[in-house]
Amino acid sequence: MDISSIVKLVYVVAAVLFIFGLKLMSHPRTAVRGNLLGAVGMTLAILMALVEVTREAHAAYAVIAIGLVIGSVVGGVLAYRVQMTAMPQFVALFNGFGGLASVFVAGGELARMGASGMAADTLIATAASGIIGAVTFSGSLVAYAKLEELKSFKKPIPIPYQQPINAAVAGLAILLSLALLSGHGWVYVPVVLLALALGFFLVNPIGGADMPVVIALLNSYSGLAGAATGFVINNYVLIIAGSLVGASGIILTGLMCKAMNRSLFNVFFGVMGGGGSTANVDEIYANVRSTSPEDVAMILDGAQRVVFVPGYGLAVAQAQHAVKNLARLLEAKGTSVEYAIHPVAGRMPGHMNVLLAEADVPYDQMKEMDEINPTFDSVDVAIVVGANDVVNPVARTDPQSPIAGMPIIDVDKARTVIIIKRSLSPGFAGIPNPLFAAENTLMYFADGQKAILDLIAAVKEAG
Ligand code: NDP
Repeated sequence: MDISSIVKLVYVVAAVLFIFGLKLMSHPRTAVRGNLLGAVGMTLAILMALVEVTREAHAAYAVIAIGLVIGSVVGGVLAYRVQMTAMPQFVALFNGFGGLASVFVAGGELARMGASGMAADTLIATAASGIIGAVTFSGSLVAYAKLEELKSFKKPIPIPYQQPINAAVAGLAILLSLALLSGHGWVYVPVVLLALALGFFLVNPIGGADMPVVIALLNSYSGLAGAATGFVINNYVLIIAGSLVGASGIILTGLMCKAMNRSLFNVFFGVMGGGGSTANVDEIYANVRSTSPEDVAMILDGAQRVVFVPGYGLAVAQAQHAVKNLARLLEAKGTSVEYAIHPVAGRMPGHMNVLLAEADVPYDQMKEMDEINPTFDSVDVAIVVGANDVVNPVARTDPQSPIAGMPIIDVDKARTVIIIKRSLSPGFAGIPNPLFAAENTLMYFADGQKAILDLIAAVKEAG
């Protein structure tokens, strides 16, 4: 068997590993193994790509080595140091750089071969890599800035006639790329610049609670750009891996849209909020009642069914282990304990499942929103730990709200609601939450982890 057949065979093995890896990643129990399989597949693919280039006389080994070292060091250090709560921003950057890599690889091939030396289908793939890759890059940078809550990006930058401008920029980029087909390779640069502007314009107005959808979509775009680049350089494993990322990103986008009760059209072209609220906060919070760990321990003493509702603040406070320990304590007293998981709680899809799994919370106690919502009127105590938007009843009542129509966890239907957070500050969507002042709600103001540890001590003390 010659070397080229071996390379192709190993590419097939890598593709199979990707597919099995994805399958295993669909459940928290097997996700780590799935991730590992994917990483092994990717290592094989990289090795084979290196074998392929070494067969080319002009392979620039030094440049490849420098690139590998810089990429590995930067990626390794960042991944090691990044806080769990900053993972979504990190993933947004990864998506963005994936897009940028596609722009450069396709552009490099165009520069090497010249537009007149490439077949029409390869030129179409080159234009697709440039456009999708650049949209992914600039869009992901804006998503990063929004998730990082950088000041200038907290509110969308107002741009008049946004939709017609977007249509014009997209149309111009596509029209210009047609010139590639008639041998004008230089148009690749303005096409990429227009696509960079488009990525910014598309993500800039999106805010409120719609960012999960955008992140999933950008993830898919980075895959599609990679697949297009695979066609440009004729690399099978890039086509397969890119298509898998593109397809799984689209599936995730669909799931996120469903979870937010939004259509994709609505996310991109609807009227977006996210920049705070005009509601009178003092009026809404006039009747807020706060509580103490001792009082909560007394309430829990008589409870038969307790549901924890984790949110982004649980991740910030790293309170998952403390929550699990409190749950064990309550279970030892005969209380039934469950966890209600909202699909967009936290800052990335599956954020809460990952945290709770890390603390060894049994999977059968983690209940999906649709499963647990109809049962909330038989819940004695709902303990909301660092969640805000995903329990905000305004989603049901105010059609002008940036989270209007988003299904929420129906904690307000529980007999007593305990909300653990540090203050009355809003969540990601930037809007007040009338649940904090509801008759059956008590606010327990504290850092999530400290609150639960104090509560454990109080429950133990109460016997
Ligand atoms: P929110 O962002 O609505 O609220 C989090 C709350 O946690 C804050 O109000 C904050 O209040 C509290 N908090 C922060 N730190 C701590 C701490 N140390 N201890 C206790 N509480 C703390 O979170 P949700 O999970 O309810 O909602 C997620 C939001 O993020 C949604 O709007 C969603 O659309 C959006 N989003 C989700 C993504 C996803 O894929 N899951 C991706 C991008 C955005 P305080 O400061 O008073 O403590």
